[in-house]
Amino acid sequence: MAEESFGFQAEVSKLLDIVANSLYSNKAVFLRELISNSSDACDRLRYAALTQPELVKEDPDLKVTLSIDAPARTITIADNGIGMNREDLVENLGTIARSGTAAFMDQLTGDKGTDMALIGQFGIGFYSAFMVAERVDVLTHKAGEQRGWRWRSCGKGEFTIAAVPQAARGTAVTLHLRKGEDEFLDPGRIRRIVQTYSDHIPLPIVLKGAPGKDGEEQGGEETLNAASALWVRPKSEITPDQYKEFYHHVGHAFDDPWLTLHTKVEGVIAYTSLLFVPSVRPIDLFHPDRKHRIKLYVRRVFVTDDCEGLMPSYLRFVRGIVDSEDLPLNISREMLQHNPVVGKIRSGLVKRILDGLKKRADNDGEDYAKFWDSFGAVLKEGIYEDSARRDELLELSRFRSTAGAGLVSLSEYVARMAEGQDAIFHITGEERDSLAASPQIEGLKARGVEVLLLTDPVDDFWVPAVGDFQGKPFRSATKGGVTLDKIKPREGAHEEPEEGAAEPPAAAPGLDALIALLKEALKGAVKDVRVSERLTESPVCLVADEGDMDMHLERMLMQHQRVAVCSPRILEINPSHELIRRLAAAAAAKGEAAACQTLADAPHLLLDQARIVEGEPLPDPGAFSRRLARVMERGLPEGDSNR
Ligand code: ADP
Repeated sequence: MAEESFGFQAEVSKLLDIVANSLYSNKAVFLRELISNSSDACDRLRYAALTQPELVKEDPDLKVTLSIDAPARTITIADNGIGMNREDLVENLGTIARSGTAAFMDQLTGDKGTDMALIGQFGIGFYSAFMVAERVDVLTHKAGEQRGWRWRSCGKGEFTIAAVPQAARGTAVTLHLRKGEDEFLDPGRIRRIVQTYSDHIPLPIVLKGAPGKDGEEQGGEETLNAASALWVRPKSEITPDQYKEFYHHVGHAFDDPWLTLHTKVEGVIAYTSLLFVPSVRPIDLFHPDRKHRIKLYVRRVFVTDDCEGLMPSYLRFVRGIVDSEDLPLNISREMLQHNPVVGKIRSGLVKRILDGLKKRADNDGEDYAKFWDSFGAVLKEGIYEDSARRDELLELSRFRSTAGAGLVSLSEYVARMAEGQDAIFHITGEERDSLAASPQIEGLKARGVEVLLLTDPVDDFWVPAVGDFQGKPFRSATKGGVTLDKIKPREGAHEEPEEGAAEPPAAAPGLDALIALLKEALKGAVKDVRVSERLTESPVCLVADEGDMDMHLERMLMQHQRVAVCSPRILEINPSHELIRRLAAAAAAKGEAAACQTLADAPHLLLDQARIVEGEPLPDPGAFSRRLARVMERGLPEGDSNR
């Protein structure tokens, strides 16, 4: 029998290394993973047999069979499912197909504890066999094909594949246990593991040739699980642990579900859904394909996990199953896309999920914040994609703001708006702390006006699409047209004049002259130069003109080459800042030579300073540096070259 050798994909080798060398707290999960794979393989065969009944004719009762060979120190997990051919083996048991794997691997630190916790979220599937086995043999025969294959590996860098003349349909995975793993040769232990982790598997899981529970030699087959689909059982008979294990199976997940929704719908359209919201963000959440993974069953038969119309992309983090009573079993994927039943099920699912989220949000804000931090950025995609649900999604959204570390809802924001405030102010950017320190929001903060700090890329898209909430328009704090004079400073806000305090200083004399000078010097570089209402501490800032694109969005689009050049900004100057006052005075006097030189450098220095704070690139860093050096030099006593 000719044997071919293959190297594992680098990611797999790395994963195997960690798996084999770590003291995983719960090694028994290997059994769940392998049984889960077997169950999926049977699901796929059952579906294929709808159009090719000959595939199952000779062996129609699909099941998973466990057998223990104590003297040989092996345990075998076998199924009569779809099986694999040579290409499948190379593809499936030599690589990790999951998107985001490489990025995930980069997060591994080499520290066993941290890495294991990370892998716990990732799920290791088939490779978990190497937690307990020093060698794994896979004997497999794909349904409808002529020959079988044997895959073998010790989990160290490589595996071999060899053709075998004849094997039974399906797959048998044999684990040669390592020293110290003898507990998995004990039928009692295996029975308990299956009942804990795999009871919900809708196929019989049988233990072959094991002594019965009372120790008698049975010699036959003992079915270890309930072997009925979990979702058809009455809710009252399902324990939270059973739901959790089912979630682990269906979602290929290791975390606990944050929300479980189990519903049976009867009437014109009848279906059962069992859906879960994870508590941990899956690694591929932001993969460009934005696919959901809901499994569609028709009358208990698995059909596909690729029915696009079943769940909108903005709910792609939801895991689970839908079992329809109405769809035809032999429906093709193309037909599913335009099927009205699928459309109706989808809107039922969306409603149920959003209602479930709302209930949790209303009951416990802290708990909801955990959900929000994991999935909020995805849910917000729905605000512009699903206009019918826009209001509900806006109600479910939470934001960081200048009002403190916690999250705020839009209703809360509107309820606590300052007197005279007529808009919802927000600022978008990459990083919360730098947004909170932005010069453009100084004036708002000083008046006690709350500003939403938006840091998800999706925020740049939904805000312009929405326009307003409860009649209050969204207004970017970095655009022109923000007027503060109608907003009454809140009590305690530091702009409120204290009793008896001096009037704020009058506008600097010479301001008009300074503005004229700046406009002249910066012609072409800025759209306009204006006196700012929004600055209290910084001398200058940039804003976009009212009708122009938001500056952050424009920068993002430029990075992705969607726009070629930035539209010119408006430079706003703070008339009460000491620097501006002095420059204005100098502009008015224009006498002294030193002042004139500084005035010549000031326009571009002010503009570059505003660009740096805004995070915009300087078009000519060399010129900036020369100007800065000149100004600093003039501010210092002359050096004594003799010293
Ligand atoms: P996952 O199940 O998350 O896709 P695994 O590493 O557990 O990842 O398995 C990789 C792939 O190998 C599966 O997606 C499946 O295509 C294939 N596979 C694993 N076990 C079996 C089996 N018993 N029968 C058929 N195919 C299998």
